Amino acid sequence: LQAHGSRLLDSQGESIGALVVLNDVTRLRRLENVRRDFVANVSHELKTPITAIRGFVETLLDGALDSKEDARRFLEIIIRQSERLQSIIEDLLSLSRIEQESEKGGIELQEGPVRAVLLSAIQACEPTAQQKSVELQLVCDEALRSRLNAPLLEQAVVNLIDNAVKYSPENSVVLVQAMSRGDQVVIEVRDQGRGIAREHLPRVFERFYRVDKARSRKQGGTGLGLAIVKHIAQAHGGRVTVESEPGTGSTFRLHLPQKK
Ligand code: ADP
Repeated sequence: LQAHGSRLLDSQGESIGALVVLNDVTRLRRLENVRRDFVANVSHELKTPITAIRGFVETLLDGALDSKEDARRFLEIIIRQSERLQSIIEDLLSLSRIEQESEKGGIELQEGPVRAVLLSAIQACEPTAQQKSVELQLVCDEALRSRLNAPLLEQAVVNLIDNAVKYSPENSVVLVQAMSRGDQVVIEVRDQGRGIAREHLPRVFERFYRVDKARSRKQGGTGLGLAIVKHIAQAHGGRVTVESEPGTGSTFRLHLPQKK
């Protein structure tokens, strides 16, 4: 709490009271902290691949180029780290674009079929799923409609399916399901993967939060996927929730208002 005080005087300069202004700065300070943490996190996330790229280029220049085998191995690492930088930057740009549009008066929503969006998200994830022999199943009524922004909603569902595949064992099933629940459309992505321990659940939607940093990085994760999903849900006037049982699987749900 911030307080400013001043005396109130009459025309003769006699004191007739005091004016105290109390300002609640906790919210502002919290926002400022979030912004500072975010900048620190972004810098750190970008620094890691750049340091690796630089290190391997230096090793190559220092003589590793002479061995064709070493050179190839190091160049492959350099490519992978550059791809990583690119993913982080793409995700950061997606996040800021959604935020900007939401602030500018909202993203464009149109009444449309949910099934088409889910189908195209599934098609986008099919190659990665096939590599792990994960089966993607779809259950959604043709008639189900909602107010939606198709490209953004597809991106949210792709992020959820991508995670479901990433954190699932081979030969498992990922179920993508949508249904009408009261005045909401609920889109559900259910996996049979490793699950998420209860203490991590409230934090997985934060930017750069990972349950297992090393594992997420190895899988090519940027730590921004679920933050993007959360923003897209909010831009639709909805929200995202998660339910998970370690060792059994996780279910992520997008709750979208059917009418606005
Ligand atoms: P990442 O790029 O690391 O996957 P996300 O924002 O998409 O970042 O997810 C944040 C973290 O939440 C992940 O690092 C992972 O620990 C956990 N997570 C997300 N989805 C799942 C899932 N389906 N099963 C288990 N853990 C998950």
